[in-house]
Amino acid sequence: MKQIILISFILFLFSCENEKSAVSNDKKDSTETTKPVSVDSFYIDESEVNSNEYKEFKEWATEEITKTSLVILGTIQDAGSPQIGCKKECCKGLFQKPDVTRQVVSLGLVDAENNKTYLFDASPDMGKQMKKLTRLEQNSDKELVDGIFLTHAHIGHYTGLMFLGKEAMDAKNTPLYVMPKMKEFLLSNGPWNQLITRKNVVLYELENEKPVQLSDKITVIPILVPHRDEFSETVGYRITGPNKSALYIPDIDKWEKWDKDIIVEIKKVDYAFLDATFYSGKELNNRDINEIPHPFIIESMEKFKDLPAEEKNKITFIHFNHTNPVINYSSEETKVVHDNGFKIAHMDVAFEL
Ligand SMILES: [Zn+2]
Ligand SMILES: [Zn+2]
Ligand SMILES: [Zn+2]
Repeated sequence: MKQIILISFILFLFSCENEKSAVSNDKKDSTETTKPVSVDSFYIDESEVNSNEYKEFKEWATEEITKTSLVILGTIQDAGSPQIGCKKECCKGLFQKPDVTRQVVSLGLVDAENNKTYLFDASPDMGKQMKKLTRLEQNSDKELVDGIFLTHAHIGHYTGLMFLGKEAMDAKNTPLYVMPKMKEFLLSNGPWNQLITRKNVVLYELENEKPVQLSDKITVIPILVPHRDEFSETVGYRITGPNKSALYIPDIDKWEKWDKDIIVEIKKVDYAFLDATFYSGKELNNRDINEIPHPFIIESMEKFKDLPAEEKNKITFIHFNHTNPVINYSSEETKVVHDNGFKIAHMDVAFEL
């Protein structure tokens, strides 16, 4: 046990054998308008649990992960929740009382055999996320991860790198895995190029679909996806561990715009964390959903509706816009997603690899 914590977390296990979840007590403080989530109202599919009793109570931050796993460190779209300037119900109250479970999208990888950790995406919330991730590592007081993989140059996915620089942590040689255009972008723009010249980070150039071997049992494969690529290309990642593998695609255009078939890609893995920025056109004043360059949850559910239950069960929706009703665990839309056999990403849930 390494860490004494200030906030106590209640951890309970889903019946899904490889998942663990922690839900903060703080949610009881959420506002009425966002439908506060207390532990009691957390939506659990009754078919997934043997009883409604929480099976295990632990203080989250003292928990170490003893098996190689992915951990969800954030679930929200780039601009966060509450989102700047938002006057709508979705963010009402959150400016005064933030919900600690609303962090910008990021996945952590814990290599339990080699005592290493890696981040996927460097979000603006990276400071808290890296603290959480490194605390999960066994027998270690490290504050820095052993590598960071970037998906693309949109604000929610790389600007956390600023905390590695001189004004903040002043990291030494943190490996940063990037695609060629992303590398060019960092090298040719401040303040990012200063991280490189000062050796806060060391760049490793990725190649589309070429595996990076992190250990004899862990590989990471970048996969190009179509997205609004002004500054860099965009990749998702396939992450393979000792026993299982995962697909992480936080941002992508409509599934049909991809030269790969998402259904085939889901088949190759055990878990799929997929772009779910918007639930439906309702959030966008009923604009034509074809105009919005993300697969809406309702479109994805339609696309995946004929998949067998075990394939659907692999899919965890992530990267939620502040307006997305599934952020609220007790919303009708959350229930619809669960009833259709899919999952919604929650912070602090771990998936064993
Ligand atoms: Zn994004
Ligand atoms: Zn909002
Ligand atoms: Zn993006």
